[in-house]
Amino acid sequence: MDCSFCKQEFPRGTGLLFARRDGTILKFCSNSCKKNMLVLKRDPKYQKWITKKVKKKK
Ligand SMILES: [Zn+2]
Repeated sequence: MDCSFCKQEFPRGTGLLFARRDGTILKFCSNSCKKNMLVLKRDPKYQKWITKKVKKKK
């Protein structure tokens, strides 16, 4: 798996999985990555794939 925020590979069984209400599943290698994505929400570069996915679904 690779982290949704920093794109780093991390082994299965570690890290965090976060399921959003809209069905998007976010994978994080660490708590700080989760925080950066969910709390700061400021990096469009890393959020691009999420936007893409949501658009495709609709
Ligand atoms: Zn990460």
